Amino acid sequence: MKASDEFSRRVLTWYGHSGRKDLPWQKDPTPYRVWVSEIMLQQTQVATVIPYYHQFMARFPDLNSLAEAPLDAVLLQWSGLGYYARARNLNRAAQQIRDQYGGAFPETIQEVTGLPGIGRSTAGAILSFAMGQSHSILDGNVKRVLARCFAVAGWPGRTAVSKQLWALTDQLTPRRATGHYNQAMMDLGAGVCTRSRPDCKTCPLVDICVAHNSGETAKYPGSKPRKDIPVKSVKMLMVLNQERELLLEKRPPSGIWGGLWSLPECPSDHDPTIWCSNQLGIEGTLRGQWKPRRHTFSHFHLDITPVELTVDGPANCVMDGNHRVWYNSASNDSHGLAAPVARLIDELQQRLPGENI
Ligand code: SF4
Repeated sequence: MKASDEFSRRVLTWYGHSGRKDLPWQKDPTPYRVWVSEIMLQQTQVATVIPYYHQFMARFPDLNSLAEAPLDAVLLQWSGLGYYARARNLNRAAQQIRDQYGGAFPETIQEVTGLPGIGRSTAGAILSFAMGQSHSILDGNVKRVLARCFAVAGWPGRTAVSKQLWALTDQLTPRRATGHYNQAMMDLGAGVCTRSRPDCKTCPLVDICVAHNSGETAKYPGSKPRKDIPVKSVKMLMVLNQERELLLEKRPPSGIWGGLWSLPECPSDHDPTIWCSNQLGIEGTLRGQWKPRRHTFSHFHLDITPVELTVDGPANCVMDGNHRVWYNSASNDSHGLAAPVARLIDELQQRLPGENI
C-alpha cells in the first residue's frame, strides 16, 4: 500500500467513528447549501455559524432568492458574522450564476473558482461535498494537520509554503470518498489537531506525525510575521431626536462595513456639536462621552469614542431615505448593522430605560 493510501485510509476510518455527519448543510447537501456554509465557515467556527446558517436558509432558501435579494437584505442576515465582503460576494455570485449559468450551479472547478469569493479550496469543498467530485482542499484546519504531520515549516500565507501544502494535499487526497476524506480532515483540524494543545492521543496520525514525535507541535504551522498595525480614532455620534429615534447613516457599498448601517463618524479631534451643525445641519446638545473601545480589523485598530447628543429642535432637514434614517428599534424597519454599532445601540438602550430607541 502506498504511503498516501495508508494516510487516507486512517483518516477515513477515523471519520467513520468520529467525523461530523449531522451538520445542517450535510442534510440535503445541494451545491447552494454547501456553498453558503463554506463561505460562512471561512472565518467563523461551526458553532457560531449554525444559527446564522438556519436564518439565512430560511430567508434565502435557494439560489434564485439570493440572486433576487437586494444587498441590504443579504447584509441584514449577515449582521454579526463579520467580514461582510463574504455576503456581498455571495449576492454577486448568485446573480452571476443566474445570468451566466441559467441559475444552475456550475460543475467544473474552473467555473466555480471564477465566481466572486470562491477560491480553490472552497471550490474543492463544494464540488466534493455536493457533487461527489474528487478535488483536494486546503483550509486553515487542513493546513494545520498537514504542516504538523509532515513538519512543513514557515507561515502558510507565504507562496512557497502554500505550494508545499497544496502538493501534499493533492498527493494524499483519495479519488474515492473524497467528500468524506475532506470532511474528516476539516474535523481533525477543528476538533483534534487544535491550534493550542492538540489532542494527539486520539489522532489517527499520531505515530507518523513528525511534529508530535519530535515534541514540536507548537512550531507548526509557522506564525504570520508580526507587523504592528496602525490605530485610527473616531467619534461615533449617537444623535437622538425628540422621539428618541437614533440617527443612522449607510456606509458606502465597499470598504469597511460596506453597505451596512452605522452611526455618523466625526473625526476624533473635532467638536461633535460643531461637526453636527456643519455636516448634518443638526443643532445638538452634548449629553456625554463614553469611554473609548477598540475594534480590531485585520489591518488596523479602530478606537471608537461614543458620544451622545440630543437634537434641540426638529431635524428633518438631514434626512435622505437612502443614506440617513431616524432609527427606532421597535419599528419593523430592519437595518443591517455593523456589530460594534449594534452593541452600542444595545448599551444606549440600557442606559436610557423606558421606551425603545
Ligand atoms: S498527532 Fe497531534 S499534532 Fe500530529 S496531526 Fe495529530 S493531533 Fe495534530
